[in-house]
Amino acid sequence: MSNNKWSDYINPSVKRIPPSGIRKFFDLAAEMEGVISLGVGEPDFVTPWHIREACVYSLNRGRTSYTSNQGLLELREEIAQYLGSQRVHYDPKKEVLVTVGVSEALDIALRTLIIPGDEVIIPTPCYVSYIPCTALAGGIPVTVQTSMEDNFRLTADKLEAVITPKSKVLLLCFPNNPTGAIMDRETLLQIAELVEKHDLLVIADEIYERLTYNGQHTCFASLPGMRDRTIILNGFSKAYAMTGWRLGYAAGHEDFIAAMNKIHQYTMLCAPITAQVAALEALRNGKSAVDKMVAQYNRRRRLVLHGFKEIGLTCFEPGGAFYAFPYVGDTGLTAAEFAENLLLEEKVAVVPGDVFGPGGEGCIRCSYASSVEDLTEAIKRMGRFIKHRGMK
Ligand code: PLP
Repeated sequence: MSNNKWSDYINPSVKRIPPSGIRKFFDLAAEMEGVISLGVGEPDFVTPWHIREACVYSLNRGRTSYTSNQGLLELREEIAQYLGSQRVHYDPKKEVLVTVGVSEALDIALRTLIIPGDEVIIPTPCYVSYIPCTALAGGIPVTVQTSMEDNFRLTADKLEAVITPKSKVLLLCFPNNPTGAIMDRETLLQIAELVEKHDLLVIADEIYERLTYNGQHTCFASLPGMRDRTIILNGFSKAYAMTGWRLGYAAGHEDFIAAMNKIHQYTMLCAPITAQVAALEALRNGKSAVDKMVAQYNRRRRLVLHGFKEIGLTCFEPGGAFYAFPYVGDTGLTAAEFAENLLLEEKVAVVPGDVFGPGGEGCIRCSYASSVEDLTEAIKRMGRFIKHRGMK
């Protein structure tokens, strides 16, 4: 290497990605003792034993090879059957791709679709990867801000207002990270109409779909006319407490799946066989374990909502995922100041809402994928913090 600095060699698109706003808080929290973290978006359960057992059994039988690029056919069949239960039908041979988490599926879906300069419409607050992954794929992220007044739902009016001739993809995530918002069928139908009218494609990240507490989740691809305009992303991390296994999938029109597979086969080759075997067991026999975890999350959701009310924080009622998104602006602090001081003074880690894009300002994301004891103690500490600071 010449006298140049490393940064001179780095791709400008990579350089432009801002540092993660969440990292700073995790680094701070890692240096402290006695911190209760409501910061991470990860189940606090371990993967159900029968799923782990299925993996151990297959390892003992020596199943350690690559699989087909698209993933084990029996797993794809099981995925297609599961999606069938959501009223959308795919051919497991051609229309399902098993990926390394939803993260890989998201990345290759965007890279498959985007021609540099295409606009990707992203309702915010949104999952932290959407904007950087869009930009890395050469797309232009166009954010559309949802708000507490609309229960953090995307409305058809707000969507139509940002559509331009360059709009190509709408990136939906319901139940939502970070707000916990869900969408009602009526509004989704209005959005589907706009998608059709403006010839858009939809990437529907439905990773939290099993964690729905109010009403029933509507799979976007199941709406009239949407099957072949939508690529569904889903996975095992959240519902089955399998974050570390790194397994997800994409389902959509066969031409699109074949195009995604072109990237996948040269970058990942295939998802790990151990995780695929585990996922097969999860889909076949995991329902009661998931139901139990969902019941736990729901109980904690109510506890947290009640607790926030008691300590004077306004919080809209999240209908899914495992996040609450209370408003802390009444303390006179910004969300970042609130999060930093709460961590330093009361040792509770939360994530400031602005990390998730426009619309998140003034709110904090609190994950309730934590024990009832930790949640109770965290709310007590937050109450003390707010009392000490006073409300404006
Ligand atoms: N999509 C959303 C909305 C998420 O919240 C997350 C993880 O937090 C992911 C995707 C990543 O999922 P996976 O573990 O399957 O890569």
